[in-house]
Amino acid sequence: MNDQEVKAWSLECQANDLMKKMEKRGFQASYAPTAEAAKKAVLELVPKTGAVALLGSQTMNQLGVFGALRESGRELVDHALKTAGLSPEEAHDYRRRVFAAEAMLASVNAVDAEGRLYNIDGVGNRVAAMIFGPKKVILAVSLNKVAPTPEEAWRRARNIAAPMNNRRLNTVNPCVKSGRCHNCQLPSSICNYFSIIDRSRPEGRIAVVLIGEEAGY
Ligand code: SF4
Repeated sequence: MNDQEVKAWSLECQANDLMKKMEKRGFQASYAPTAEAAKKAVLELVPKTGAVALLGSQTMNQLGVFGALRESGRELVDHALKTAGLSPEEAHDYRRRVFAAEAMLASVNAVDAEGRLYNIDGVGNRVAAMIFGPKKVILAVSLNKVAPTPEEAWRRARNIAAPMNNRRLNTVNPCVKSGRCHNCQLPSSICNYFSIIDRSRPEGRIAVVLIGEEAGY
């Protein structure tokens, strides 16, 4: 076995362990070793009919999933493209459509070694819809988001994912300068709703595609 094969084997072992724990929590779990395989796996999980909601996810963007769905002609609730330029009231009304969608696609900010899902959200629509609303929730999660403990999962969400999302969104929050969280408590904060998803109810509603290649943040 060469080094690349050994690394692939190690990641697959890690994914197998995590999938077993996730399945006990009611999640539908699968593993894709590459970004290309992950894109295929995600698209196969998307129901054939009904609206599909695309929630903020750099992982899904990088996999090319959002691009493929935008080109497909499917009915979409496309948060990133459709809320730009809307008034806060109009954006709020648009975001509420997510709850009636057949499925939603997103990622998470961290996963702990026991398979719990961690998110920090600015408006709350992403975490709220993960918990209730769309009949199917499909999450693409790179193994680089797995943290050994709940504390480390929150540390990752707060000090890695949130500052990077602030940077991407070009906010005025202090993490944009330092690259770490200052617990700013500013009106412009994108860290307002913190959620842990411990289980999927009903079982199988939340599907998690674990990815061996690094994707998203
Ligand atoms: S500084 Fe504020 S916006 Fe930035 S990561 Fe911390 S709480 Fe979020």
